[in-house]
Amino acid sequence: MAKSPEVKLAVFGRAGVGKSALVVRFLTRRFIWEYDPTLESTYRHQANIDDEVVTMEILDTAGQEDIQQKEGHMRWGDGFFIVYDITDRGSFEEVAPLRSLLEEVKRPKNVPLVLVGNKSDLDHVRQVGTEEGERLAAEMACAFYECSACADEGGTVAEAFHELCREVRRR
Ligand code: GDP
Ligand code: MG
Repeated sequence: MAKSPEVKLAVFGRAGVGKSALVVRFLTRRFIWEYDPTLESTYRHQANIDDEVVTMEILDTAGQEDIQQKEGHMRWGDGFFIVYDITDRGSFEEVAPLRSLLEEVKRPKNVPLVLVGNKSDLDHVRQVGTEEGERLAAEMACAFYECSACADEGGTVAEAFHELCREVRRR
């Protein structure tokens, strides 16, 4: 029997944007309010995506790494999430530099990437418009999801993970 494909996914973004909450939501369908922000973890998870069993290795970065560590994580991964917090403009401004570093590390490969604007439940304190996220994703030629790790009714978080797996498998 053919071995099921494995994809390595890494989650990037400023500390506090909700990377761990998103990963835990995806893996357990639960929301965990407080998660050690300094913790870096990897998880293995199998999912059926388009009638194929895919094994994911997911690296939840802490978001406080120095450049060497970041580059190491980028070399390790096949596909990447860049996450920002819609209530934190600074986290949005960190997206483009992360993308540039990714392009540099992965050159000449075209990098499978998904942009995620998290904490959409906090619309009343929003600092980054949905259109801004859409525009940036269009510039980066990648998929874009606005979602909430704590109120993920539509299953958008899982959709984003599955889309990134597809994107990796297409290359
Ligand atoms: P990380 O540093 O990127 O891993 O961020 P965490 O997952 O540790 O989350 C940082 C903080 O944001 C925690 O207090 C979480 O409870 C909170 N948080 C994460 N995702 C959401 C979300 O979708 N909505 C809201 N309201 N809070 C969130
Ligand atoms: Mg974390």
